[in-house]
Amino acid sequence: MDLFKKMDTPKANAENTAKPAGDAEHVKCLIIGSGPAGYTAAIYAARANLKPVMIQGMQAGGQLTTTTEIDNFPGYPEGIDGTAMMEDLKKQAERFGTEVRWGTITEVDFSGAVHKVVVDGEKNITADAVIIATGATAKYLGLESEEKYRGGGVSACATCDGFFYRGKDVAVVGGGDTAIEEATYLANLCKKVYLIVRKDYLRASKAMQKRVAEIENVEILFEHNTKEITGDGNVVTGAKLIKRKGEPDESEVEIKIDGFFLAIGHTPNAEVFKPYIETDETGYINTKPDCSQTNVQGVFACGDVQDHIYRQAVTAAGSGCKAALDAERYLAEKE
Ligand code: NDP
Repeated sequence: MDLFKKMDTPKANAENTAKPAGDAEHVKCLIIGSGPAGYTAAIYAARANLKPVMIQGMQAGGQLTTTTEIDNFPGYPEGIDGTAMMEDLKKQAERFGTEVRWGTITEVDFSGAVHKVVVDGEKNITADAVIIATGATAKYLGLESEEKYRGGGVSACATCDGFFYRGKDVAVVGGGDTAIEEATYLANLCKKVYLIVRKDYLRASKAMQKRVAEIENVEILFEHNTKEITGDGNVVTGAKLIKRKGEPDESEVEIKIDGFFLAIGHTPNAEVFKPYIETDETGYINTKPDCSQTNVQGVFACGDVQDHIYRQAVTAAGSGCKAALDAERYLAEKE
């Protein structure tokens, strides 16, 4: 696609200080993504009179809309449904003048002082400051049964949903640091935790491996793959596993569980920005120490797209606040 026809080749044109090209709409502050980071950035940016426009992205409301009850976000003593919380955040952002729009960013050009994006392949917007809050997407195994029981025992966040499995048996899939953290967290709440690992070793760091080996109610099932999650109605009751898949002694194992937790990694939603924005080797956007500034002046990143460690709604919200404050300062200095 010929993005902003009057502009030169992306990246090459460092002198580009163009005003909106052709049919492009110009905004002061563009926020991309509508999870807790995006909405918090919007609340702060709108209150600072930056007149933010938010493009919601593929999953309006972000990852929290896929969870059930949220019990760990401060300010909700009785807990709150994820979708309801995101609706509240949206209303709060709109109350101060944020314009929230449907759409997905399909192309960007961050080569000049004015940043350009294309929404849904057709609408051009230019912005003085851009806040990227596109989040990360948990990886799933791709099983039909996983879809069936999502919200009924299948989860990709132990910190969010583990509480509902107090005293019960659960399984965690994965052999990396996240899986160990999730298993450790769940072991404190649950009767038993199966850790389903497809290889005959853990990928997690040595320290994490040692930690999990010392927990009595965690049983590691090496060389096991999940074939199917089983249930009753919409609720998980077990899982069928294949032990030593493809080997002569391959066998099927059944476990009884109430919860099935995915911990096989996340994919940061940063692909569209990569021609301009630096990421680490796993695809998370790099921000400067102690702030939300990316390698491109005027482009800020917050939330899970730049945080592979904490990944909590409240930490995402906090980083959204920082991004809006950074954008406000940047724009004030520019004026
Ligand atoms: P990783 O990519 O490190 O690990 C993913 C795990 O999931 C691997 O064991 C992998 O198996 C397994 N896996 C992937 N796909 C499948 C599948 N289809 N079926 C079964 N198993 C599968 O992701 P993490 O989220 O654990 O970690 C991401 C990064 O974040 C890492 O750099 C990690 O160190 C870091 N991190 C650090 C923490 C800390 O320091 N406290 C906490 C959490 C994360 P296999 O090994 O066979 O490929």
